[in-house]
Amino acid sequence: MGMLLLGRVWTFDPARPRAGAVLVEGDLIRDVGPAEDLRARYPEARRVRASWITPGLHEAHVHPLQWGLALETLDLRGLEDPREVARRVREAVRAREPGTWLRGGGYVFDAYPGRALLDQAAPHHPVFLESRDLHAAWVNAAALERAGIDGTTPDPPGGKILRDAAGEPTGYLLERAVELVRASLEPPRKDDLLRGLQDLAARGFTAAHAMGEEDGAGTWAGELAQEGRLPLRLAWTQRPNENTYTKAQYVGEHLHVFGVKRFADGALTSRTAWMCAPYPEGGHGMPLDDPRDHDEEVAGDLARGFTAVWHAIGTCAVREVVALIERLEARGLPARRRVRIEHAQHVADADLPRLAGLALSVQPQHAADDRRALERLGSARMGEAYRWGEFARLPGVRLLLGSDAPVAPPEPGRTLQLTRNHPLGGRGLDLAQALRAYTHEPAAVLGWSEGERPLGIVAPGARAELTLWDEAQPVARLWRGVLTSVMKSTRT
Ligand SMILES: [Zn+2]
Repeated sequence: MGMLLLGRVWTFDPARPRAGAVLVEGDLIRDVGPAEDLRARYPEARRVRASWITPGLHEAHVHPLQWGLALETLDLRGLEDPREVARRVREAVRAREPGTWLRGGGYVFDAYPGRALLDQAAPHHPVFLESRDLHAAWVNAAALERAGIDGTTPDPPGGKILRDAAGEPTGYLLERAVELVRASLEPPRKDDLLRGLQDLAARGFTAAHAMGEEDGAGTWAGELAQEGRLPLRLAWTQRPNENTYTKAQYVGEHLHVFGVKRFADGALTSRTAWMCAPYPEGGHGMPLDDPRDHDEEVAGDLARGFTAVWHAIGTCAVREVVALIERLEARGLPARRRVRIEHAQHVADADLPRLAGLALSVQPQHAADDRRALERLGSARMGEAYRWGEFARLPGVRLLLGSDAPVAPPEPGRTLQLTRNHPLGGRGLDLAQALRAYTHEPAAVLGWSEGERPLGIVAPGARAELTLWDEAQPVARLWRGVLTSVMKSTRT
């Protein structure tokens, strides 16, 4: 019997790039071909119509635990004025027990505010607000006190506690200093991770690449996998010093621990992205895990079967990760295939050709959301930013699409639209390139599109993990043999 899916099929199978119908039985694809042939061949099959049918949609860069937490915290997205944020905080704490934490996130500020505004808004609640890029936090006096941070607290390695003239913390924390406060929050739980994953599944994703969640979350992911509770296929990266998994491996059928995630630098909107040219207000940002001295660590990751996943946003961060790849290649290591760059947001002209053959994971929503920060850099540097259209023309590049949720919401409709219509003007991707980067390529870089029961292609014998679209909006997904509609409230 089975299920006959009818519509324009993007197969990503070189043997048959296009088709009009797919016959699915259980969780396997049995037949692919022209609609009339399959209609005649399977008259009894249940028929489901969609405008497009693609391999399952992948979210190639997401923080599912953080996203699960964000779904439950004060939403400050779109706010750029600290006074407005303080007003929201004042409202939010009214309904809360004094002494309990208020968490929030999503703002973008042009300057680093002090804690006075927050102290007035919430004198009796510790408040922890993360910037949209997650590379900074704004906190009040109560939060500093809870975390035990005062004028005598030294800056942690890779972090900065901003201080006033008297040396007292101002309430603004950069990069790894954020962790000092995070450590005193109520710890996240397995349910927070599950909530984030379930939301992704409800949006039509069948797989997600989780990027460096906090220690402990890898254990929860493993438990969910073993309990058969993962709502989508999950590719996992762990932090460099974490030993939850000592080598790349599968846990159950749906968890693939594949990578180790490092940060070459911070982020543009917090002015911690490591730029070769200085910021207009001075400084070059912050190298974090410096690629210039990580050759042995990365070689060790590769030996353990891991992909080395590098967050690199600024021009110098990208340049130094590429230099690291080239040094490892010179030693005969498969670094071009097994080191992956996340964001690759600012790339100098001279470095562009050096990216050929690399896996580059990009988040087009950031290009729209970063406009102001980009304008502050000056028009001369705009051309170095968000070059995914140019990446696609480099030989052998494997482009992957994602949202970086909670930095931007995991909205496939918006992501796809911005991928095709570049927010900074210039060349985006065509539809076939964009869908490839959103479905086939993220499966292929993990080796999922090879072997028995491959994923990421629509071909007989492949796994029926598919997404159904109404034009550029996912409307349903097929996962483990079950067809479910995308929640209307998540459509963009
Ligand atoms: Zn991220």
